[in-house]
Amino acid sequence: MGSKFGIGSLSIVMISLLLSLAPKLEAELTTVEQAPKSDGSISFLVIGDWGRRGFYNQSQVALQMGRIGEKMDINFVVSTGDNIYDNGMKSIDDPAFQLSFTNIYTSPSLQKPWYIVLGNHDYRGDVEAQLSPFLRSMDSRWICMRSFIVDAEIAELFFVDTTPFVDAYFLNPQGQTYDWRGVSPRESYLQTILTDLDMGLRESRAKWKIVVGHHAIKSASIHGNTKELESLLLPILEANNVHLYVNGHDHCLQQISTSQSPIQFITSGGGSKAWRGYYNWKTPEDMKFFYDGQGFMSVKITRTEMGIVFYDVSGNILHKWDTSKMLYTDLEFPL
Ligand SMILES: [Zn+2]
Repeated sequence: MGSKFGIGSLSIVMISLLLSLAPKLEAELTTVEQAPKSDGSISFLVIGDWGRRGFYNQSQVALQMGRIGEKMDINFVVSTGDNIYDNGMKSIDDPAFQLSFTNIYTSPSLQKPWYIVLGNHDYRGDVEAQLSPFLRSMDSRWICMRSFIVDAEIAELFFVDTTPFVDAYFLNPQGQTYDWRGVSPRESYLQTILTDLDMGLRESRAKWKIVVGHHAIKSASIHGNTKELESLLLPILEANNVHLYVNGHDHCLQQISTSQSPIQFITSGGGSKAWRGYYNWKTPEDMKFFYDGQGFMSVKITRTEMGIVFYDVSGNILHKWDTSKMLYTDLEFPL
């Protein structure tokens, strides 16, 4: 009994010492503060898979984003990645940046912060160039990081760098070269993302939690579900009451929600090239909306409601969905 007590005391001392030496366990993801509107609400647009120098209807989609952005008085724009086709940026001087971004999204309403994640096509070029603050000095809208948080008070958006999760890019790159600087060693890179995301979501006191990545957890289009995200990312989202998971990668617009999960799985990847002509989904009751063509999405969030709307290349409304939250959820976090 005595020795047990002694060992226990020693263990406690050692654990205390180790804890004092260990790095502080708090969310490591960079957080960007985004002011909401004066009534506390926010609205924003979501676009993905777009950087094609205006071709494949990129310019037409951009024009309609400007129109809807003005109508909604948006706070910011979210990009779900594949920002520059076909192979990302060659360097920070690559004219693709102006030709595919600055010169395309010219509407006054789109002169807001753009929160941007990387896609697999971005990883085929100089990744460091897209992440460089030099781009921000050329166009102050550009806020591109690997994984980060946007804190808009009423809602928090968690951006996740999903490309390094996909085994095939490492095991079977099919002749493509990926810029894995900053990712190796892969295992610890992925583990850090998952730990930081889990901690960030757990610490969040925002009424609405949205996670943004490039690859779909669930999709009926050509790329389908991303099994690595289903096994590694989805459990964290489900454990932390995430409302929306938003991605690009498949060049379509879609909303899936299953009876197994309260999360809405949203694809907004219609920023330019589309019309793959592929659809494979076995549970029609879960498919709330699917559109194979170009377009984008808007999101409006208040204290009690969140609404999303999908638009086509002409700005026509294709699909709407909204949900409400009872005010009594304030009691979840009493003062
Ligand atoms: Zn992609």
